[in-house]
Formats: sequence, C-alpha cells, structure tokens
Amino acid sequence: MSVKENFNEIENTLKQHMSNDADGTLPNVIAVTKYVTIERAQEAYEAGLRHFGENRLEGFLEKKAALPDDVTMHFIGSLQSRKVKDVINEIDYLHALDRKSLAKEINKRAEHEIKCFVQVNVSGEASKHGVSLDEVLPFIEMLEMYEHIRVIGLMTMAPYTDDEAYLKSIFKQLKHKRDEIQAQHLSHAPCTELSMGMSNDYALATEEGATFVRIGTRLVGKEE
Ligand SMILES: *Cc1c(COP(=O)(O)O)cnc(C)c1O
Repeated sequence: MSVKENFNEIENTLKQHMSNDADGTLPNVIAVTKYVTIERAQEAYEAGLRHFGENRLEGFLEKKAALPDDVTMHFIGSLQSRKVKDVINEIDYLHALDRKSLAKEINKRAEHEIKCFVQVNVSGEASKHGVSLDEVLPFIEMLEMYEHIRVIGLMTMAPYTDDEAYLKSIFKQLKHKRDEIQAQHLSHAPCTELSMGMSNDYALATEEGATFVRIGTRLVGKEE
C-alpha cells in the first residue's frame, strides 16, 4: 500500500472516532519512520505528512537531514542523558521526558525552550518508561526550575493488547491527569496536549481526546 492510501484510511478512521470535545480538530498524525527508509519517509512527506517521529538518535538526524525544512520533528523514544547534547537543539517536540537527570541535562544543553511531553506509565508495567500517575504533578512542579523546558502535554504508550475497555481506561486516566495539570495554570506547563495512540490503538486514543497520534506500521509500514 502507498503511504497516501494508508493516510487516507487513517484520516477516515480519525474522523469517525473523533472525540466529542475536539471541536472538529483531528489529532495530528506523526509519521513514525523508525522502521523504514529515507525514501519511504519522503513518500510520506509527498502524501502530505508534516510531523515525523523517530526514537533513536541516528535515525532522527538522518531523517531530519533528508526531509524538507517545513517538517516538525518529534523525538519519541527514551533519550540517554549523554546523547542529549548531540540532538536536543534539533528536536521540535520531545515525547519522553521521564526523569530529573534528563531534564537537568536538557536544560544545560538547550539553546532555546524545548517543548516536552512528560511520559507517563499509566499501566504500571515494569517494562515501560515513564513516571507513575501519582508522580506526574510533583514531577512537573519540579521542572519549573529548568527555564528551557516547557511541558506542553502528557504522553503514554499503552500495553500491547486488544482489550479495548482496558486501553480506553488507560487513555482516560492520562486525559484526566492532563486536565488536572492544566487546571494548575503553571506558566512553564500549559499541558494542553495528549500524545497517545499507535497503529493498533489510535482509534481508541482519538475517542479519548488524543491531540497527537504516533503511527508507524499502519502508515509507512515496517521494513526490518
Ligand atoms: C514505534 C513507536 C510508535 C509507532 O508504533 P507502531 O505500532 O508501528 O505504530 C509510536 N510511539 C513510540 C514511542 C514508538 O516507539
């Protein structure tokens, strides 16, 4: 399937599953290109995608260099502190801020404000990165001391399952937490965005109010 065909199908699904309080705005689709070639990423650009996501330093820099300048580049994976200096000023949105040591390093290396999502481990699975739901508010309050960090939203990766009720409960909990943070009116943390939903669960995430969905396999495929 061409990226264009996949994208059309995804957009139709987004329209059907849009949450009632989304004011007619569809979630932004981030084309996750970590499994595919530069050529396939360029095909996604031709198909109209402007948000791109990569989870490794090398792939991120390679795709960014190859794509036109009007793309928005998302770093969606966990970032090792020692690699921050090599990439932080190339990132438009960082989706995986999950620890103080990382925040500190970002603050030191960033030459401008970095838009960050705080990654939340909603399910509590030991294998997942992210701060627990209970720790989100104190973690975000702590981030105020880092002038280069702006918390624009929360991100989660749901467990891999087809239990829809369970997935919906995960997304709902993240949204409630987002609303709670937003209600604090913290100047460094407007926290308006929700990055949730991947190939197998983006429709459900959209119903629960996702503003960014991160789609790899269903959109551009998986080559390796
Ligand atoms: C790989 C990845 C995705 C996309 O996964 P698919 O299931 O291929 O859509 C989304 N988010 C993160 C953080 C990822 O690492």
